[in-house]
Amino acid sequence: MSKESEQIVLVTGASRGIGRAIAVELGKKGRFVYVNFHTNEKAALETCTMIENNGGQAKAVQFDVSDADLCEKAVQAILDTHGKVDILVNNAGIRNDKLMAWMQEPDWKNVLDTNLASFFNVSKLIVKDMITKRFGRIVNISSTAGQVGNPGQVNYSAAKAGIIGATKALSKEIAKRNITVNAVAPGFIDTQILEGMPMDQIKKMIPCGRVGKVEEVSALVGFLCSKKASYITGQVIGVNGGVV
Ligand code: NAP
Repeated sequence: MSKESEQIVLVTGASRGIGRAIAVELGKKGRFVYVNFHTNEKAALETCTMIENNGGQAKAVQFDVSDADLCEKAVQAILDTHGKVDILVNNAGIRNDKLMAWMQEPDWKNVLDTNLASFFNVSKLIVKDMITKRFGRIVNISSTAGQVGNPGQVNYSAAKAGIIGATKALSKEIAKRNITVNAVAPGFIDTQILEGMPMDQIKKMIPCGRVGKVEEVSALVGFLCSKKASYITGQVIGVNGGVV
């Protein structure tokens, strides 16, 4: 395992929300963090500045995680530059809620492509490289929706449950190579993704009585990526205020 200050990190969807908090947390140890974004370059550059202000190095990198070719090119460029990726956090995600009876095929496909196919698109080359390096940390951001299923979110729940299955399977393929693969399943966390949700109703369902903070998710991801977490793999860990 390289020294933390020599580690290379890729966090997808790190321009804002949970991804930004994870990128900042991982950058605190002096790591070099690639901050992936899709549409919002300005916000991604703000994340980079936050990382640099906390003692890390950072570079914003634009690619759409649902596009396999673009992911391959972007990941290959990182591997060509640094020769490795030590830590990968598959975080980018969207929701597009509709009852199943009214859901159209593009609503299904876009959510599955962005939240689940992205895992394969981004991880494939990195996993291959981690196997040769005999080290890696992969954290996939799932959701309570993938654990219990939410009405109006058949597409999102399917994608997030898929991430849990993929995490468990991959962890068993590569555990002997000193690579851990875990899923973090947040509940309701205060980010833009909650916009338009009936928050007063939702808060009543949360045993802690409040939504979570992004730092309450990033702290766990930071631990899972540390040396101390080397015997934790194939797990799904909730950060949900007691909802599940
Ligand atoms: P958010 O604030 O809406 O941020 C989403 C991030 O994903 C943005 O950085 C966005 O980039 C990026 N993104 C979206 N589509 C992308 C694409 N096709 N390619 C690359 N990047 C893309 O959401 P969040 O709440 O932080 O969610 C982060 C993750 O946590 C998601 O996987 C979400 O499903 C999961 N989650 C969130 C909650 C919650 O309550 N917040 C609960 C459970 C799970 P741009 O800004 O550049 O477009």
